Amino acid sequence: MTKLADKIWLNGQMVAWEDAKVHVLTHALHYGTSVFEGIRAYDTPNGSVGFRLRDHLIRLEDSARIYGIKIPYTLDQMIAACKDTLTANGLKSAYWRPVAFLGENGLGVTPKGDNIKVDFAVAAFPWGAYLGEEGLQKGVDVCISSWQRAAPNTIPTAAKMGGNYLSSYLIGKEARGRGYAEGIGLGTDGRLSEGAGENLFLIMNGKIHTPPVAASILGGITRDSIIKLARADGIEVIEQALPREMMYLADEIFMCGTAAEITPIRSVDDIPTRAAGPGKVTKRLMTLFHGLFNGTTEDRFGWLDPIQAPVPAE
Ligand code: PMP
Repeated sequence: MTKLADKIWLNGQMVAWEDAKVHVLTHALHYGTSVFEGIRAYDTPNGSVGFRLRDHLIRLEDSARIYGIKIPYTLDQMIAACKDTLTANGLKSAYWRPVAFLGENGLGVTPKGDNIKVDFAVAAFPWGAYLGEEGLQKGVDVCISSWQRAAPNTIPTAAKMGGNYLSSYLIGKEARGRGYAEGIGLGTDGRLSEGAGENLFLIMNGKIHTPPVAASILGGITRDSIIKLARADGIEVIEQALPREMMYLADEIFMCGTAAEITPIRSVDDIPTRAAGPGKVTKRLMTLFHGLFNGTTEDRFGWLDPIQAPVPAE
C-alpha cells in the first residue's frame, strides 16, 4: 500500500501506516459490508478545522444502523479518533477516511450472533482536487452512464456502504474508458440520480434544481451545505425529479461532494452547457463554499470544527 501518511487509527490504537492490516477472510472484503465516510479537514486562518465532521460521523452511524452493524465506539470517540489521526500525521488539511467493517470470525453472508468483530479505522492523508485542478477552473466533460443506479428497495443508497460503490465503480470506469471525467447515473425510472461519487446541481433561469433524496442518491453533506448556502444567499433551490434532457438544457451544471468539492460541468454527452463551464451561479457558490475556509464566508451554520480546542481568553 503506497504510503500516504505515517499513522492510522485502528481499533483504538494509533499504528504505523504499514501495520494497519486485516485478514484475507475479513467479511467486508468478500461482501462489501463496510460503512465509511470521506471528510475534509481544511487549514483556515483560524487553524485547522474539520468540515461538518460530526455530521459525517452521524451519517456513518446511520449507515451502520440501516444494516444493524454495531460500531464499538461512540460518536465522540470517533470524532476524537479523526482529530487524533490528523494531529498524529502532522497534517493541517487532509481527507479523512473513517471505516467500520465486519471483520473476522464469520464468513457466512449473514453471520450468526454477535461473534463477528466490527473493526473501526481512520486514515488521514492529503488529497487534492478529485477531478483535477483544471476541472475546477474550466469544468469537466461528463456522460450519462449506461449503468443505472440501484433501484429503490434493493441496496439502500442512503447508506454509504462499501458494496454500493460497485455501482460507482461501473459508472466511473465506463465514463473514464470513454474519455470523460465522470459518469452520471440515472435511476431505474430514467430520471437523473447522481454522479459516481458526487451529487448533481442544475441551474436554470437563476434557480437551482437538484434530484431529491428519493432519486437513489447518497444524501451528500456537501449537497446539504450548498442548498443551505444558496438559500441563505437568496437563491431558490428546488429538490425535484429531473428528466435526463434537463442536462442538455441547463444553463450551468455542477457536481459536488467531499472529494470533488464543487466541480463545474462543461459538457454532458458532448453537448456543452449554455455556460460551457463554470457560470455565474456556480462561481458564486464556489466563492461562498471556499470562503468558509479562507475566512470570507461567515460560518453561520457552525460547520467548522476546530481540531485544537481554542485557547480560552484570559
Ligand atoms: N454521492 C456519492 C455516491 C458519493 O460517494 C458521495 C461522496 N461521499 C456523494 C454523493 C457526496 O457526498 P458528500 O458531499 O457527503 O461527500
